[in-house]
Amino acid sequence: MDLIVRNVNLPDGRAGVDVGIRDGRIAAVQAHLTAPAGEEIDGGGNLLTAPFVDAHFHMDATLSYGLPRVNRSGTLLEGIALWGELKPRLTQEALVERALRYCDWAVAKGLLAIRSHVDVCDARLLAVEALLHVKQRVAPYLDLQLVAFPQDGVLRSAGALDNLRRALDMGVEVVGGIPHFERTMTEGAESVRLLCELAAGRGLRVDMHCDETDDPLSRHIETLSFHTQRLGLHGRVNGSHLTSMHSMDNYYVSKLLPLMREAGVSAVANPLINITIQGRHDTYPKRRGMTRVPELLAAGIPVAFGHDCVMDPWYSLGSGDMLEVAHMGLHVAQMTGQEAMRACFDAVTRVPAGILGLEGYGVAPGCHADLVLLDARDPVEAIRLRAARLLVLRRGKVIARSAPAQARLSLPGRPAQVDFRLVP
Ligand SMILES: [Zn+2]
Repeated sequence: MDLIVRNVNLPDGRAGVDVGIRDGRIAAVQAHLTAPAGEEIDGGGNLLTAPFVDAHFHMDATLSYGLPRVNRSGTLLEGIALWGELKPRLTQEALVERALRYCDWAVAKGLLAIRSHVDVCDARLLAVEALLHVKQRVAPYLDLQLVAFPQDGVLRSAGALDNLRRALDMGVEVVGGIPHFERTMTEGAESVRLLCELAAGRGLRVDMHCDETDDPLSRHIETLSFHTQRLGLHGRVNGSHLTSMHSMDNYYVSKLLPLMREAGVSAVANPLINITIQGRHDTYPKRRGMTRVPELLAAGIPVAFGHDCVMDPWYSLGSGDMLEVAHMGLHVAQMTGQEAMRACFDAVTRVPAGILGLEGYGVAPGCHADLVLLDARDPVEAIRLRAARLLVLRRGKVIARSAPAQARLSLPGRPAQVDFRLVP
C-alpha cells in the first residue's frame, strides 16, 4: 500500500476500520490491515467519508457579493435585478478568478465535486468560456460539472435556445431549464419538452430549475417526469428546487411522487436558499417553501441538498460548507429522527454523487481514494458540529488539512480545553 489510514469510522456505521490506498485508489477496507505501507495516518476513531458533493450551484455568480452593490432587501426579485446589472460588467478574468477562489474554499471544506449551472442568456457566452476554463484548471482536484442554464427562459429570452445549443457544442454537459420563468404555464411545459428532447438527442443529462415558486398549481415537475419517461431518460434527469411542492394539494402530490419514482427522476432541495427566498409573499403563517424531502425519500426518490449560492446577488452568506447545508436541511425538513439525520448526511455525499453520475465514488475497494477525515465520530456528530476537515485527500494525496476546532478556557476549577463531544 502507498498509504493506510488507520482506525476510522465509516458513514455506513462500520467502526475502527483501516483503509488502504494504492495508485490513487482504495485497495482495502478492513479491520487490522496488515499490508506494508509507505505511509500511515492515525485516523483517531474519526469519521472517514467520500468527499462532499454539491449537486446545485451557480459558480458564475459566486463571490460577487457587493458587485455592483449589495442586495438590500435580500429578496429573489432584487437578486435577479442585481444579476441583470452585474452581467454586462462581467469580465472573463474576474469570473475565472472568483470561481477559482471558490474552488479553493470548496477543497478546504472537503467538497470535491460540484454541479454548477452557468447562465447562457448572454450571446457572448462569457461565463461558459470562463467556467469551461476553470473546469479544466481544477480537474486534478475537483470535478466540476456544468449545466447550460437559460436564466431568463429558453423561450422567453431571445436567442437563448441558440446560445444553449452553442454552450453544449462547446462542452457543457448537462441541459438546464427554468420552466416556471417562461411566460405561461404552457410555454413552460413546451420548454421542458424541447429541452428533454435536446438532451435525449445528444445523450446528455437534464437538470432544471423546476417550480421554484410558492404556486400550488405549478406543474412542471409532472411534465418533466412525463418526458423523462417518454424519452427513456430514467436516472439522468433531476428537478432542482421543486419548492411549489411544499404548497401543492396533498392528493395531487400522492399521485405525483409515484410518477417521479417511475420515471427515475431525482430531486435537489436547496435549504439555505429555499428557506430565505420562498414564502416572501406570505404574512403569517409563513411557509417554509422547501420541497417535501421526507416524503420524496419515502417514495424512493433520491434527494440531495445543494448549496445553490455563496455570497452572490441572491445570498450574502455561505462558505462552501456542505455540512452547513445539511444542518439547515435537517432543521427545515424536521428530519430529526436517527435515520433521517443520517439521510441528511447522505444528501450531501452519496446521493448527489449518484445524481452527477460520478465514477468510482465511495469508500470501498476500487473507488478513487478521494476522502475526507472529519473531526467527528459519525455523520450526525459531523452535522451537529459542522466538523473540521482534518484531512482532505484526492487520489490518495493530502490536498488540504485543518486543525480541530478547539478553544482554551480560563475558568477556575474547569478544564483548560473545551470539548464539544460527549465522551462516553
Ligand atoms: Zn439555482
